[in-house]
Amino acid sequence: MHPAEQQMQFVYTLRSRGVMNAEVLKAMEATPRADFLEGIFRERSFEDTPLPIECGQTISQPTVVGLMTQALEVTRRCKVLEIGTGSGYQAAILSRLARRVYTVERHRRLARRAKDLLLKLALHNITVVHGDGSLGLPEQAPFDRILLTAAAEDPPQPLIDQLRPGGIMVLPVGQSSAVQTLIRIEKTEAGLDYTDLGPVRFVPLVEGVAHDVLE
Ligand code: SAH
Repeated sequence: MHPAEQQMQFVYTLRSRGVMNAEVLKAMEATPRADFLEGIFRERSFEDTPLPIECGQTISQPTVVGLMTQALEVTRRCKVLEIGTGSGYQAAILSRLARRVYTVERHRRLARRAKDLLLKLALHNITVVHGDGSLGLPEQAPFDRILLTAAAEDPPQPLIDQLRPGGIMVLPVGQSSAVQTLIRIEKTEAGLDYTDLGPVRFVPLVEGVAHDVLE
């Protein structure tokens, strides 16, 4: 298939699976997923499946990226925190919708690669931080939006604390070995409002930074 056709098919798949927000679709169209993949996986970038990246991690399924981004209701005024940079794909999409994006990754190697790539793509409103995202990023808090792209058993309290009143957080919760649930939390004056967005499958949120042999 011709790349332009593949791109049309890609957007069609996103729409048919519930990613309807025009701004989100535009941001995804402007962000070729192949840029965030390596080797043999580049040519599979249009497939609506997660694919392997370095350090035994995965780039998420495009539909899930779209649905999470849509549920986050990002506006130009938002300061966004993402936990789990991975390839940087989700961060790149967020950066086209938000004012500022901070993204935290526990694997130094992934953080470094994503930082280089995002600079190369001239996405200058993203800061990649190597660290333990389960602690959030207190020095930049509060955030208008928080997105986790790794599954926690429960929403980490530091992240809830770092969400601005009126803010929205989207995350997968549940055991890493089982099907997890994507949830949306809105911080209101009355407390936390939870919405269930359906089943998903993510790599687990692991506490602490990684100590990889080859870094
Ligand atoms: N958003 C990524 C995909 C994420 S895969 C993308 O667009 O490509 C989940 C990532 O979360 C992995 O890279 C994993 O290393 C990272 N991760 C897991 N636990 C973490 C933690 N406590 N802090 C920061 N990153 C974490």
